[in-house]
Amino acid sequence: MIEIHTRKGYDINISGMPSHELEILEKPARVALLPERIPFVKPRLKVKVDDPVKVGSPVFEDKRNPQLIFLSPGGGRIADIKYGPRRVIKEIVIELDPDEDYEAFPVISEADLDGMERKKLVKMIMTGGLWPLFRELPFRDVPNPDVVPPSVIVSLNSKEPFQPVPEAYLNDRIDLFEFGIKILQKLSETLLISTSSNDGFAQDRLNGFVTHTCNGFYPADDPGVLLYHIKKSPDENRSWYINGQDVLLLAMLFKTGKYPVDRTLVLGGSLARERKHLQTRMGVPLNHITKGRADDTGNARYIVGGIFKGYTASKDSYMGFYESSLVLIPQGDEKEFFGFARPGFNKPSRSRAFLSFLNTSSMAMDCNCHGEVRACINCGFCGEVCPVDILPQFTYKTILADEIEEALDHGLLDCVECCLCTYVCPSKIELKTIFKETKKAYFLEQL
Ligand code: SF4
Ligand code: SF4
Repeated sequence: MIEIHTRKGYDINISGMPSHELEILEKPARVALLPERIPFVKPRLKVKVDDPVKVGSPVFEDKRNPQLIFLSPGGGRIADIKYGPRRVIKEIVIELDPDEDYEAFPVISEADLDGMERKKLVKMIMTGGLWPLFRELPFRDVPNPDVVPPSVIVSLNSKEPFQPVPEAYLNDRIDLFEFGIKILQKLSETLLISTSSNDGFAQDRLNGFVTHTCNGFYPADDPGVLLYHIKKSPDENRSWYINGQDVLLLAMLFKTGKYPVDRTLVLGGSLARERKHLQTRMGVPLNHITKGRADDTGNARYIVGGIFKGYTASKDSYMGFYESSLVLIPQGDEKEFFGFARPGFNKPSRSRAFLSFLNTSSMAMDCNCHGEVRACINCGFCGEVCPVDILPQFTYKTILADEIEEALDHGLLDCVECCLCTYVCPSKIELKTIFKETKKAYFLEQL
């Protein structure tokens, strides 16, 4: 086991962290797919409102690559298809039958797997709707199935607060995980399995599987950060990664012959009354997760997918294909009486703008930015936290000047989109969003 030490990064000391307790939720009445939350995919519908669907029936495909299909996470009827501006498909809602029907997929044993050609296996994963679980660095798009990647990285854990831990999602499913690992071994000769250095469960129970432990602040265990520290040649930049929990889905597809819809999620944040892990299903409604478990007096911000990497969602929305975290924190839009004169003992901040640096207990975070966007003051805070040694203030200025080649020379493609530079920036510059959008534009230009 190789231990990787990351010097940079940052851990926020935030309240509302979940326990490792796992509650199994009852079945929801509806589930949904959110095509707009799947990066780089242009959806083409294969269903219309009122069509019957089984669990695992095709719902939409990618226009650029029709082999890339997305399957129904429920059996029942297409109840609604919601569009956003410019006819972007936002939600495909499925009303569930009490007894759901399942599409049948081939069941394979370990012996079948041993003798199977890679090409056949890839086709089965694609037909089974699980190919999008793989993402390719550095753009984090869904990889080309015909390419053999230099390595596949399995991330068991995330130092981003409010993400599921292996102890909750893996506890009694180690055998299933081992089968999933055998599947991955057919896809690339190099398989890297990483976890956080403080994850005793994974190191104990998956001893012999874990290849790297990541020691350091958030986002030390991001696959992009791991790759940045271990890569020996530029070819390795196109490695793939998959989350530990998703390895279980691959195994379930082949063991049961059914499209697996299980998801272990985290509910956390200072406005969640019950902060814990929840076992439920893909595309579950957010209000099904929070029902009876949150103190929502109307001022809660619903953040799906993590406090740094996630996005704001309406409470009437659903969990996306990739997301496994729901955080409820205050909007922070109430006016504070003489707020400017308060010492801010309870306001998380990396700079010493508030006296919170004297406070070692966890603090309640809200969404108040405490100011508007201003010009960069060259404080260098962003460079101090960047885990892949980009100097974000300079990269940002090259992008503003439309010098994209120079931004690439600065290491733009190494950016793991962790959002720390944005979080620490006293000028409130949305650095991560600018970098992510620039990477996306560059990717689409390459296409
Ligand atoms: S430049 Fe990218 S990797 Fe560096 S801190 Fe900002 S978002 Fe994170
Ligand atoms: S943290 Fe913000 S203000 Fe400071 S150098 Fe970076 S971009 Fe400029």
